[in-house]
Amino acid sequence: MSFDSFCLHATITENIKRLGYENPTPIQAEAIPHVTEGRDLMGLAQTGTGKTAAFLLPIIHRLMTTKSEKRGVRALILAPTRELAEQIYRAGLDLGRGTRLRAAVIYGGVGMFPQTRALRQGVDIIVACPGRLLDHMNQGNVRFDALETLVLDEADHMFDMGFLPDIKRILSALPSERQTLLFSATMPPAISGLAHETLTDPVTVRI
Ligand code: AMP
Repeated sequence: MSFDSFCLHATITENIKRLGYENPTPIQAEAIPHVTEGRDLMGLAQTGTGKTAAFLLPIIHRLMTTKSEKRGVRALILAPTRELAEQIYRAGLDLGRGTRLRAAVIYGGVGMFPQTRALRQGVDIIVACPGRLLDHMNQGNVRFDALETLVLDEADHMFDMGFLPDIKRILSALPSERQTLLFSATMPPAISGLAHETLTDPVTVRI
């Protein structure tokens, strides 16, 4: 299988080439067609499998090729640690180079102001840790009326770190009609419960 079979926007295909990716990894090959179709997805995959591009590529493609009637954030990616959030954000910058999409990365332990400014200027994609995102939501810095896709990355780690209540608060502020992608390396009862609550008729991909 080659990346050409996904029919991604030419700018994205160029970025993939520039990064030296020759072929999709197994999770990319399985997940990308479903995510492109708009299906909800449960991805059982570890880090190192290429799962980041498995969700970023179809998200970037859709944001580039469709317009939103509403203003605001169209994709939200939640991650357990600032390191992972930064890593996803940087992968987004690499894969989205030349697309004019705007992205912000949001996590605690650093000043609020630069993040507030970025959010208020308007972004298409947010990569965030749950706690700090809630702070911004409580301050009215971000609205999710235009949200189309939510990604919960490393859901098991977010649960281990005690983020489940924060995640539920964030979920309650999101439009219920949306695409949701949940990635987790393991499937403890709390995560299958969360999957049951948040995913609609999901495709399961196991790597
Ligand atoms: P991840 O599992 O998303 O953290 O990705 C692990 C590493 O694989 C990252 O350094 C990616 O840049 C790289 N990667 C992702 N997809 C591909 C691909 N199709 N071919 C080669 N490397 C890739």
